[in-house]
Amino acid sequence: MPSKRLLSGMQPTGGAGLHIGNLEGALRQWVRLQDEYEMYCCIVDWHALTTMYDNTEAIAPKAREVAAEYIAGGLDPQKCAIFLQSHVKEHAELHLLLSMVTPLGWLERVPTFKEKRDMLDERGGGDESVSYGLLGYPVLQAADILAYRAHAVPVGKDQAAHLELSREIARRFNRLYGEVFPEPQAVINEMTAVVPGLDGRKMSKSLGNAIYLSDDADTVAKKVMSAFTTPTKIKKTDPGVPENCVVCQLRRLYDPENYSLAWEECRSGARGCVQSKRELIEILNAELEPIRRRRKELLDDLAQLEEILRQGAERARATAADTMTAVRQAMKLR
Ligand code: ADP
Repeated sequence: MPSKRLLSGMQPTGGAGLHIGNLEGALRQWVRLQDEYEMYCCIVDWHALTTMYDNTEAIAPKAREVAAEYIAGGLDPQKCAIFLQSHVKEHAELHLLLSMVTPLGWLERVPTFKEKRDMLDERGGGDESVSYGLLGYPVLQAADILAYRAHAVPVGKDQAAHLELSREIARRFNRLYGEVFPEPQAVINEMTAVVPGLDGRKMSKSLGNAIYLSDDADTVAKKVMSAFTTPTKIKKTDPGVPENCVVCQLRRLYDPENYSLAWEECRSGARGCVQSKRELIEILNAELEPIRRRRKELLDDLAQLEEILRQGAERARATAADTMTAVRQAMKLR
């Protein structure tokens, strides 16, 4: 059994579960790490409440979908604990205790707080849509990590700053009450660049530009046919710029051995965008088909999936309960 612990997690929000940006930018790395670490893979359903508090019935089914996608993408429930945050109440107790030692100013400065506040404002919620829980989001995130006394947290290249607050909270707790928490280190995913969405911006569930693991082959085909390419490549013979073309970027990602010939032909005008798109559809669908199939099998047998989540929560709870004993002792709470 590996001795170092790692905590990873994603929110069950958005329209359709995980997209290929989540797969390539996060999940694939977790799959590699599951042999190296004692790993806890959380589906952070309480976090989803910060933006979905008025639509809570969507959260539980979405959480099962994400669990199925974790496994279909290669996480092995025998190797790592896959569980829902809300099934392990220790996260809530630790969140409360940490909230007492986290200065308000630290939270008000978090850029994602400001972004989410503006997003909720745009949805027309007004002042009352911004909850105490939204402000405390990073404290709950720190609790998620520290409940396992995790040594490591995988983060995307763009997200290293997110971990800093959890580290500061751990340091402050340790200073006040004695060393309970290791300072979690970011494990940065250097292997994958940011996956572009169909419109050339970063693929994101909030931008409507994503290819989802739940998309069937026809949907993938339609989406790829609609993707942005080189704007000045109108005729087949016009030169393309693969570096700025979504289709070429995805081709490189999914066909690393052979993409360069396709890129040269695009650049020289020997091939058009329609050919590039058709080939990419084949390559993408071949790659995604086994994941889609496994995902469907898992969602067709919800009883088995619930059992996986129950066992995952049990393993997680055992570790988190140990931590809470140490925390209460350190704080002299009896
Ligand atoms: P979204 O932007 O769709 O809301 P999240 O912020 O929930 O995605 O990210 C979940 C994980 O997936 C994070 O680890 C993040 O770094 C990774 N990720 C999200 N979008 C991309 C992308 N387009 N390319 C690479 N990684 C991504």
